[in-house]
Amino acid sequence: MFAFSAGAGVGWEGVDLVPERTRNQILSQLAVVDPDVFGRLMQQLEPHPLQRGVLLGSPRAHLDFIYFIDSGIVSLVAETRGGSSVDVALVGREGVAGIADALGRRQLPYRLVVQLPGLAYRAPRDLIREHILSCSTLHALLMDYSQSVMHQLAQSALCNRFHTSEQRLARWLLLTAERADTKRFELTHELVAQMVGAPRSAVSESASALRERGIIDYRRGVLTIRSTSRLHKVACECFDAVSAVNGNGASALSRRPSAVGV
Ligand SMILES: [Zn+2]
Repeated sequence: MFAFSAGAGVGWEGVDLVPERTRNQILSQLAVVDPDVFGRLMQQLEPHPLQRGVLLGSPRAHLDFIYFIDSGIVSLVAETRGGSSVDVALVGREGVAGIADALGRRQLPYRLVVQLPGLAYRAPRDLIREHILSCSTLHALLMDYSQSVMHQLAQSALCNRFHTSEQRLARWLLLTAERADTKRFELTHELVAQMVGAPRSAVSESASALRERGIIDYRRGVLTIRSTSRLHKVACECFDAVSAVNGNGASALSRRPSAVGV
């Protein structure tokens, strides 16, 4: 039986802390279109390590900070009153953890949990709100990103209802690899079962099948995608549907030329 084990979190040592070179796609686009606002914002953002399992926000607490993800993965986790939970969306370097709060909402309907360690640039929520209200470009970028999160939420509902554990596991691995920009990551069994929204036994069987076919490998708590193309064939349609919207960066700028001064 394939079994995930708990692994030590990947440290954030070695991550480029020079703000001008952030890998966050929203900040990178802002840097190109409005370097003055980007410069001011980056002076106020602080690098913040994302450690596995840390709760950044929950339905019972206001979010004090907004996180621009530079590396790592943060999950939006929905849960029942009884404590059962399932991932409904992923945030990587294409996005922001706390987008609802950034745009004015103060009640998260889900938890924000660090699933893969990395780095974020963060600032107090009220400060980000000030920038959004004074900068139409940043507002457009974040609005566009919020739409992509809503698309992910809708796709997750469909996926959890209609697609198999193996399809969902393949989809989740591809999305994680895309957002974390790596084919190799540390995972725990509990994490993957929650992400995929399936019983551990079903996830283990699916993962074993993928490993036996040489599509993935798993050693010492580290999972490696050996064949992205073959994993893509296994995944359900939801990967392409979400990737097309989320993975190509916000298109707000091209739709709003007046906002970018071109
Ligand atoms: Zn699906």
